[in-house]
Amino acid sequence: MRDNLKGRCWLCGTYGPTETHHIFEGSNRKWSDKYGLTVELCMWCHREGRNAAHISRETADYLHTEGQKAFERTYGDRQEFMDIFGKNYL
Ligand SMILES: [Zn+2]
Ligand SMILES: [Zn+2]
Repeated sequence: MRDNLKGRCWLCGTYGPTETHHIFEGSNRKWSDKYGLTVELCMWCHREGRNAAHISRETADYLHTEGQKAFERTYGDRQEFMDIFGKNYL
């Protein structure tokens, strides 16, 4: 993902300890790894906060759309994304 750095939260920009979040999880987790569709998040944006990626559907959806855009910028077109990830988020 663009501008993804260990030690800076990809969502809120806070510097400090971060955790690696897989944008597409479950059976797609391996594809998140393969295509670099992970982001470094502070624990609040990742798990603990009201809008955390694992709590808020909206945040998860936002990350899904950004992840798909990143894939389409770098690896392939929409059909290829859907063939691999099984869904279109855009
Ligand atoms: Zn954060
Ligand atoms: Zn996560």
